[in-house]
Amino acid sequence: QKLQDAHKTSESSPTYSFEFFVPKTSQGVQNLYDRMDRMYDLGPAFIDVTWNAGGRLSNLTCEIVSTSQSILGLETCMHLTCTGMPKELVENALKDAYKSGCQNILALRGDPPHASDKWSSVEGGFSYAKDLIKYIRDTYDDYFDIGVAGYPEGHPEEDDIDQLIVYLKEKVDAGATFVITQMFYDVDNFINWVHKCRAAGITVPIIPGIMPISTYDSFMRRAKWCEINVPPAFLEQLEAVKHDDVQVREVGTQLVADMCAKIVDAGIKHLHFYTMNLEKATVMVLERLNLLPTSEERANVTAPALPWRQSL
Ligand code: FAD
Repeated sequence: QKLQDAHKTSESSPTYSFEFFVPKTSQGVQNLYDRMDRMYDLGPAFIDVTWNAGGRLSNLTCEIVSTSQSILGLETCMHLTCTGMPKELVENALKDAYKSGCQNILALRGDPPHASDKWSSVEGGFSYAKDLIKYIRDTYDDYFDIGVAGYPEGHPEEDDIDQLIVYLKEKVDAGATFVITQMFYDVDNFINWVHKCRAAGITVPIIPGIMPISTYDSFMRRAKWCEINVPPAFLEQLEAVKHDDVQVREVGTQLVADMCAKIVDAGIKHLHFYTMNLEKATVMVLERLNLLPTSEERANVTAPALPWRQSL
């Protein structure tokens, strides 16, 4: 059974997008710009830039978003969290995004500033992503498209999937127009979860978050950190080659390409890649899926329509 994603026609070719995080050094930022410039040629529908709690790195998010949107010409989505953010700082970040022409915000509550801390709101700040969404809608009306995070396998603070879908619906009702999921490798579970979301009345586009596999250690570390299920086929095949990075990448590319193909086959035609600021692993998956533009097409690449702005 196909998922009823009415915003897609079954003939349309899948589109994709890339997430980048904010580097800690100025050399890292320069490298990121170079990489973003090169990845522009791959024709992503959009790119997004993560948000760190407070300080220099959140200013850098605004700066990178501005460069990406207004200089590199990439359709850009800015992550924005509530962690350590009184309303005034939220307003400044939104103003910066607005000035740069960025029209897409991924509205998040955010992680605690340190991994072990319990999350708490700051005075004059917001408690949940839905409060941030309401604020953006009240202040900017429909200027921004607003995305939210979805968790097909639970959240570290809430493992009741049905309850998380109730919270997700609240975020959509508050004004969110698309959902990006936490990374996962269990496609059957993801597809069931999308059905559950649809049954709960969540009709906005749901975009699967795909984490390519670069090394065995980083693969295992991230899966553990996000508390996600690793299907036995992934474990068996990757464990067998775990000391050989080239082999891990080769096997990992095939596993991730297969999962992407299954997602597309289920009717979800947009793939969102967590690039970890690396090009190769993502490009290998796109190549394997035969989705990359040819060199001729690259010369006049134009970004496809955003998945959440396609006509219904
Ligand atoms: P919310 O949906 O507000 O949920 C926060 C917690 O409160 C959850 O445990 C939820 O179960 C609970 N909850 C929600 N609503 C209610 C309610 N009405 N009553 C009671 N409890 C409720 N983090 C960053 O710091 N920077 C980033 O750039 C970033 N990017 C991300 C991108 C994606 C695609 C994803 C999936 C996550 C990202 N995160 C990022 C991580 C995210 O900030 C954390 O997972 C955070 O703990 C939850 O954020 P949220 O927006 O889902 O919060």
